[in-house]
Amino acid sequence: MIFEPQFETMPREKLDALQLERLQRIVAYLRERVPLYRERLDGIPEIRSLEDLRSFPFTRKADLRDTYPFGLFAVPRQECVRLHASSGTTGKPIVVAYTRDDVDLFARVNARVLAMAGGEPGMVLHNAYGYGLFTGGLGLHYGGERLGMTVVPVSGGMTERQLGLIEDLCPDVITCTPSYALTLAQAFAERGVTPDEISLRFACVGAEPWTESMRAEIDAGLGIRATNIYGLSEIIGPGVSNECVEARKGSHVNEDHFLPEIVDPESGEPLPDGEQGVLVFTTLTKQALPLLRYWTGDITSLDREPCACGRTLARMALIAGRTDDMLIVRGVNVYPTQVEAMLLQVPELTPHYRLVVTREGTLDEVEVEVEVSESYSDAAAGGLESDTRRPLEDRVEKLIRETIGTSMRVTLLAPGDGPRSEGGKLARVDDRRRLA
Ligand code: ADP
Ligand code: ZN
Repeated sequence: MIFEPQFETMPREKLDALQLERLQRIVAYLRERVPLYRERLDGIPEIRSLEDLRSFPFTRKADLRDTYPFGLFAVPRQECVRLHASSGTTGKPIVVAYTRDDVDLFARVNARVLAMAGGEPGMVLHNAYGYGLFTGGLGLHYGGERLGMTVVPVSGGMTERQLGLIEDLCPDVITCTPSYALTLAQAFAERGVTPDEISLRFACVGAEPWTESMRAEIDAGLGIRATNIYGLSEIIGPGVSNECVEARKGSHVNEDHFLPEIVDPESGEPLPDGEQGVLVFTTLTKQALPLLRYWTGDITSLDREPCACGRTLARMALIAGRTDDMLIVRGVNVYPTQVEAMLLQVPELTPHYRLVVTREGTLDEVEVEVEVSESYSDAAAGGLESDTRRPLEDRVEKLIRETIGTSMRVTLLAPGDGPRSEGGKLARVDDRRRLA
């Protein structure tokens, strides 16, 4: 089902006109209310077309940090009914705020994304995103209630209890990180529960980068159709975009509220649809913390072709990485997701991996630590002690060298020794260069 068809299936020209009208309104609002924007937009002419936005400067995470905690708010703090803070995976936390209307918007866009993912009124939602300062838990909670679902606010962690609740309450939809979906799938398998015995049918997984090969593992492991949910605290939290379960070809951006652009990571120049670059958002309707041209640092591309599901909203591809988790290894740009895609092509390996980056002199060295499958470990008598180990490591090293174009050392780990999500986001890169 489509939660708000009047907006989600709006013809392109009408959507463009709505975006322009809202953009003009929000720019005037920010000039009037936020000193940083008043100064930065000084001398920049009024917006007459959507293209005029390109003459505006970007807003960056540093702007939120420099004005921490309340400096970019466009309303008095007393009008904010809620604050959240980003999890700070990339530095000092930032605080974001919501007026009563913003909280209502937050619920509506999350009701939309749950419906995109296959959710319907009357279904049970097992929400395993963290509750608290992180926007994930509460965002999807309010969205589920708004859609008319029965929400189970499990939050992250305590995997055994999650399994029991899923068995007892028979949820149709689960929301969690992709790495945690795998943790749950594996825990079910260890209990001897097969995917067709699990009630779950749909999932919104996101909040961290993942790949098509990981999707295949999640779908098979839980017996579901998983869709990608994307969002960030600065823009609203979850609810920015989600794939439709019909096509699963890019996440529909709630464009009537969050205007997306793709720009060149170096020059900041706009890039055409289909080309990969940095995703930039302008919020069109938020009150407490509207942002103009916010530089997400996330790398993706946009597609505005009509979709099988009937929505006209543009679609963004799976996130290829984040400019700040991009590793430059001997001159080659590498995202952890590229390595992940390679590892998952090798049947002896699992998606439990970590990249350890060190620097010897001026050269960056990357070690890929990856867990082998149970069946490999059982079949190779003696497991990792056997003489099949080095040939397998060599094979993976060669695959990485030939597809990614840079060499990394591969170390196999025994089943269970790799990194696991305990419910939240999983750090894929252990960068020891900063310590040196
Ligand atoms: P933090 O930067 O502290 O992690 P958030 O919790 O707001 O702050 O996380 C937002 C970021 O999480 C996004 O900018 C993006 O890098 C990542 N993210 C969210 N959803 C996805 C997704 N579906 N795929 C890849 N990355 C995602
Ligand atoms: Zn669609």
